[in-house]
Amino acid sequence: MALIHNLGYPRIGNQRQLKKAVEAYWKGSISQADLIKTGERLRAEHWQIQADAGVELIPVGDFSWYDQILDMSTLLGVVPPRFQIDADLSPLDTYFLMARGQVTVNGETHNAAASEMTKWFDTNYHYMVPEFYPEQCFELNASKLIDEIKQAQQLGHAIKPVIIGPLTYLWLGKNKDGLTDKLALLEQLIPVYQDLFEQLEQCGIEWLQIDEPILTLDLPQKWLTAFHTTYQSLQSRAFKILLATYFGDFEDNLSVALALPVEGIHIDVVQASEQLVPTLEQLPDDKILSVGIIDGRNIWRNHLSLSYEKLSAIQTQIGERLWVAPSCSLLHVPCDVEQETSIDPEQLSWLAFAQQKLTELQILGDGLNKGHDAIRQLLDDSDQKLASRRQSPRIHNLAVQTRMSELTQSMTERATPYSKRIEKQNIWLNLPLYPTTTIGSFPQTKEIREARKDFKNGAIGEGQYKQFLKDEIAICVEKQNEIGLDVLVHGEAERNDMVEYFGEQLEGFLFTAYGWVQSYGSRCVKPPIIYGDVSRAKPMTVEWSRYAQSLTDKPMKGMLTGPVTILNWSFVRNDQGRGQTCTQIALALRDEVQDLEAAGIKLIQIDEAALREGLPLRRSDWKYYLDWAVRAFRITSSGVADDTQIHTHMCYSEFNDIIEAVAEMDADVITIETSRSDMKLLDVFKRYEYPNQIGPGVYDIHSPSVPRQQQIIELIQNAAERIPAERLWVNPDCGLKTRGWPEVTEALTQMVAAAGQLRQNR
Ligand code: GLN
Ligand code: ZN
Repeated sequence: MALIHNLGYPRIGNQRQLKKAVEAYWKGSISQADLIKTGERLRAEHWQIQADAGVELIPVGDFSWYDQILDMSTLLGVVPPRFQIDADLSPLDTYFLMARGQVTVNGETHNAAASEMTKWFDTNYHYMVPEFYPEQCFELNASKLIDEIKQAQQLGHAIKPVIIGPLTYLWLGKNKDGLTDKLALLEQLIPVYQDLFEQLEQCGIEWLQIDEPILTLDLPQKWLTAFHTTYQSLQSRAFKILLATYFGDFEDNLSVALALPVEGIHIDVVQASEQLVPTLEQLPDDKILSVGIIDGRNIWRNHLSLSYEKLSAIQTQIGERLWVAPSCSLLHVPCDVEQETSIDPEQLSWLAFAQQKLTELQILGDGLNKGHDAIRQLLDDSDQKLASRRQSPRIHNLAVQTRMSELTQSMTERATPYSKRIEKQNIWLNLPLYPTTTIGSFPQTKEIREARKDFKNGAIGEGQYKQFLKDEIAICVEKQNEIGLDVLVHGEAERNDMVEYFGEQLEGFLFTAYGWVQSYGSRCVKPPIIYGDVSRAKPMTVEWSRYAQSLTDKPMKGMLTGPVTILNWSFVRNDQGRGQTCTQIALALRDEVQDLEAAGIKLIQIDEAALREGLPLRRSDWKYYLDWAVRAFRITSSGVADDTQIHTHMCYSEFNDIIEAVAEMDADVITIETSRSDMKLLDVFKRYEYPNQIGPGVYDIHSPSVPRQQQIIELIQNAAERIPAERLWVNPDCGLKTRGWPEVTEALTQMVAAAGQLRQNR
């Protein structure tokens, strides 16, 4: 019999119940006991959904109040010194202090710098980075996991606890305070895992899932060797181990993985289908192979008949040793398609969220265990829906395809090189040294959010809403003039979100009502779904920018989200390459850029906040990605005259390894985030002479504190040691939408004064 199991289920709840409960607890409006009850209830519901779908081993330990890696840190006793405060905090409050840097207990607020957060592999989920110190100790504290196991067992479920393996855990952490080799901590870490094993043995479990996704990365030899020694010491006589990998291909790590003394291996054959054949060939006779064939990261219905065929062939080869699962935890997809009542039924039938994916799993399991006949009808039905998607006129747009096929080299490059363009731009721009500007958004006030809501609910009409936005733009322009900025923006009051705003206006995008996925902690996002050829029906931003420009003689910067960022923050169609979809978005945006230019907006910023995030996990795949990503940006930006100035913005400045690609984008000006690093991140520009202009952020917009003129002067001077002053701009780190007007006004006033002072000093 082929066993059906799952790697993890979305914990947030189909109505974001967990988010709401956790936030209510932070605010003090519900008690810890109430919060814990909500957690129990959600877990019970989610287990029941899986049990009803015939999942034979239900994951336990995938539930988390904030993040599964932070859970692991708590379980292993990895609590950085600054969180071991002299106050009577419950374990859960210490946990939230680590997560958020703040916790209020009995009316008293405690603060400590929050743990760092970073992207979970190449997904849009963020985990809390473990910190390892020179005197690092570990200490088992497994009560959360054990309690959850007991809860599930009491409910009568057949379960499989899930933990993060020691090597992945160490890999994801950070050396602190002079610690140099976190791998050396392994020796102390293994005994804690052994203690955990003892406790798990007492729970009477049959299987334990240990996640070691780093086995799909380029690993240094000593880490690979460590896999062997670690798993030699981690064995149990009472239960078996399923070692789970996902998001990529073993490649060179295959033989190490298959030689580990564990009873089963899970592989992702959605992201990395090529590893199936070599894995099967080398799979030892005594090992289970769990095949992750349902996409845990995207929202499309599975091609069930094809999957069934593949699995049948594998079953013929390895028989009972075949298990079937989603490719990775379902954490990365929304809960339930059935909740989407306003999506067209045909389009709805193309989608599968977590619950539908479990049903798909069940169908495959039934086919393998009861034979083809048992599922023939369901496969036909599913094939039909796939065919409807393939053939749907909604997906195919001949005009877009023609344009794609007519793309020429000259559409991917500006007509003249930067050195010539900038001369023409300087003539009309006539900017001072250290020109000042902002990244685009200004505070999104309560009034703005309410007006948008009223408009969406139909409480106010389009005319009234537009007038409201124009008034907001006028206020924003006036403020900027008062502050004395050199290049102005309209403020983005009309945008709820930098991707959604464009997605809603482009053809080929679909929006859900409840398609939430966890981004980090209690923060959820609702990514758009790109289902078809992308095109632009009409201009999307021109009206606002033109109006803003009419209010001032200063140059007004047009503001767009770039094609790579729109792609990377969406669920993307899987029937063509990502690069192709990105190129379609680029063509649509290219038209917008040209329309802005024609409307007299000759300074245009194309944000690529997420370009770096999309980098593949393996270095060998970087070039391919960067090639199409940079090309898409260039298609967007290069249809303009020499004297139109193209800006781009990125929310980071760790450019070391991709600086050449960033230069290839050939934006006239790039603004980046740097203020918190005292400009040290700009050191890469000493090694590599970036040819165009740069605006390193001098105002940390993530913090409510207002920078002083002198601080800003020092930052700019630091930057000028690394980049010639003639090519420097002065601006904040990122958009200002999350901040309030008083602090923003004050900070920008200081910033303008700092630039003025430096000009005088010259
Ligand atoms: N233009 C956008 C803004 O200012 C950029 C946001 C971002 O880079 N994340 O809000
Ligand atoms: Zn940014």
